Amino acid sequence: MAEEKSLNFIEEIIEKDIAEGVNGGRVQTRFPPEPNGYLHIGHAKSICLNFGLAKKYNGKCNLRFDDTNPTTEETEYVESIKKDIEWLGFKWDNEFYASDYFDKIYNFAVTLIEKGAAYVDDRTPEEIAATKGSTFQAGSDSPFRGRSIEDNLRIFEEMRDGKYEDGAKVLRAKIDMAHPNLLLRDPVIYRIKHAHHHRTGDKWCLYPMYDFAHGESDSIEEITHSICTLEFIHHRPLYNWFIEQLGIFPSKQYEFARLNLTYTVMSKRKLLKLVNEGYVTSWDDPRMPTISGMRRRGYPPEAIRNLCETVGIAKRENMIDLSLLEFCVREHLNKVTDRVMAVLDPVKMIITNYEESGDVFEIENNPETPNGTRSVPFSKELWIERDDFMEDAPKKFFRLTPGNMVRLKGAYIVKCEGCKKDEQGNVIEVHCTYLPESKSGNDISGLTVKGTIHWISVAHALTAEVRNYDRLFKVEDPSSEEGDFKEYINPDALQVVPSVYIEPSLAKAKPGECYQFMRKGYYCVDKDSTAGKIVFNRTVGLKDTWAKETKKG
Ligand code: ATP
Ligand code: MG
Repeated sequence: MAEEKSLNFIEEIIEKDIAEGVNGGRVQTRFPPEPNGYLHIGHAKSICLNFGLAKKYNGKCNLRFDDTNPTTEETEYVESIKKDIEWLGFKWDNEFYASDYFDKIYNFAVTLIEKGAAYVDDRTPEEIAATKGSTFQAGSDSPFRGRSIEDNLRIFEEMRDGKYEDGAKVLRAKIDMAHPNLLLRDPVIYRIKHAHHHRTGDKWCLYPMYDFAHGESDSIEEITHSICTLEFIHHRPLYNWFIEQLGIFPSKQYEFARLNLTYTVMSKRKLLKLVNEGYVTSWDDPRMPTISGMRRRGYPPEAIRNLCETVGIAKRENMIDLSLLEFCVREHLNKVTDRVMAVLDPVKMIITNYEESGDVFEIENNPETPNGTRSVPFSKELWIERDDFMEDAPKKFFRLTPGNMVRLKGAYIVKCEGCKKDEQGNVIEVHCTYLPESKSGNDISGLTVKGTIHWISVAHALTAEVRNYDRLFKVEDPSSEEGDFKEYINPDALQVVPSVYIEPSLAKAKPGECYQFMRKGYYCVDKDSTAGKIVFNRTVGLKDTWAKETKKG
């Protein structure tokens, strides 16, 4: 039986609500992205939480596009968001758009005006901001605060009908200009914006502000538990004020700490800059912390879900080490990927006493999770890694050095006899002899060797391009450093190796497939691959090399 995990604070609230029959024990959550960029790993946290809670408590989770800001939103983002959520393994119960509620939200505003709880202010946003006061000082009333309900209704309608320029007037909630919470000092709830909207077109030139649209959309959908990140904690009284004034469904807001990861940035605004200013190639560049970037890099959805589960739900901001995500990635890939051989920095090995031809070895694909074998051709000339040979090796070097023996993975034991060098003294060939009686699976040599190395038959090798990725930033928290965050970009976050050797079994590898290059790391096939050339992205190395490197300094 699985170990019983303790409940997080939101689960505690939900279980209490269910026990007390609040909303008839119904659980309805929503994931409300603004379609102004691609989703990042922080959003994955919110997705796992909202969809996860609905699943756990037999409830429902809506996908709601919070598309109330016409100028930054695009259909491309809507499509990418849907793709990412599905890829993460979740299904929404309804697909909604806040813009579908524009009529309802407009009518809510009219209701507020009719109640004397909202008024039109003719001043500019700057003038309004200047009279907000501060934490230590009350704000001052607008000269338009006393406008009659009739006038407010008429002018608000005119605003909707396009009679005024952008910024000429706004609608404000009439709360309290001396309220200790500045957000409740008569917040703006509607502004004029003559802009084309990706769904409503030119129907509207009046758009609701986030605080007004968001909470009201929750109520319209009868969301029971509206979960958002901590920075909205001060918005909660306003969220409740609107619900109370309008007498609509009492959705409740709960805040949790956002996911922050080291060595990256996680705001769509910043990520957009990286794309637009060419620091990365696209939103799905494998260096990006976007879900699409991680997918392209080869991170499995299971690893991302596992990270979110491991991190848990906190009430205080914290920073998660990127190596924890990489650990989750390795842990999953170790179980599911087939092992293959790739030689990234080749030198030729010649087996001087090998005269057979057409030898093929059956090598097991995955020792962790058995998944059959594949045929790997063998021959007299092989590519091996340059650093698997050393002419003058230290004592504990268990690979190839004159007199030493190693096993060629899945094939024979070979003994190193020497090497051939060019005029500059570079090793151009490593010479070995093999022991026919040491054939893998039928080894009667009685020998044990300490090292096993990978190899690829020269005559059968395919070539591929490898893109080695590293962390996008050189510092743990680029956003908190002095100056522009882009100054801290790691210039070595992408290193392209134009031509490496891979075994012929990879001829049919398809974009998205992930492999373990034995002794090298996890690599996945990139969508840039063509019939003539496979491109591999390094997903993650076999071990965490950064931990050591940072200590070295
Ligand atoms: P960003 O600041 O990156 O642009 P956002 O909060 O403006 O993010 P939205 O599209 O409004 O992006 O977010 C959709 C949902 O995802 C919201 O409920 C938000 O609270 C949540 N979310 C965004 N970033 C994180 C994060 N780092 N950790 C957890 N949840 C997040
Ligand atoms: Mg937002």
